[in-house]
Amino acid sequence: MNKSIAGYDPLERVLFSREAIALRVAAMARAIQADAEAAGAGEITVIAVADGGLMFASDLIRELRMSVRFVSVKVSAYGDGMTPRDEAVVTGAPECIRDEYTLVVEDILDSGVTLDSLCRVLRAGAPSALRTAVLLDKPTGRRREFVADYTGFVCPDAFVVGYGLDLAGRYRNLPDIGVLRRALQPS
Ligand code: 5GP
Ligand code: MG
Repeated sequence: MNKSIAGYDPLERVLFSREAIALRVAAMARAIQADAEAAGAGEITVIAVADGGLMFASDLIRELRMSVRFVSVKVSAYGDGMTPRDEAVVTGAPECIRDEYTLVVEDILDSGVTLDSLCRVLRAGAPSALRTAVLLDKPTGRRREFVADYTGFVCPDAFVVGYGLDLAGRYRNLPDIGVLRRALQPS
């Protein structure tokens, strides 16, 4: 199958194809819904981490056959350059998640700083449950202990783009996830 459009084909290697992603996202949605129903929740508040988590979240929520309240937050990580991503600042956190069954949706769990920081902020809002779903998990990158409740795929220790994952804002639109061609990688 020719996956390029007018020769645009920036991936050197596809790690997770659009077909594999679609199947996995549907399976994750089934598990998420079953757990929410088992907990007696009539609705899920889905909090997508923008921008990277938006593509995954938009596909995931359309597989949920129950009431969904959807919002997004921005999480910016700051560091000293040598050891980046040690703290993160959350903007746009939803005003009220008290007693709400809440699911955070993120593209990739790497150091753990983003989700750990966000979950701390959200827990202060006293949701009835706080669950996390990540499409990819890179266990080798962890700097803070963090385990997601739902994981799509374990990702090898490589910089990946596509399906929401970017390099300086680009490549989020690629339907597959993979490694960029060498010529496009930052030097
Ligand atoms: P962390 O767990 O390190 O705080 O944050 C995960 C965030 O780091 C993701 O939301 C994503 O923005 C970025 N990230 C980590 N690994 C990768 C990768 O391989 N590719 C891309 N595009 N972003 C990554
Ligand atoms: Mg991100």
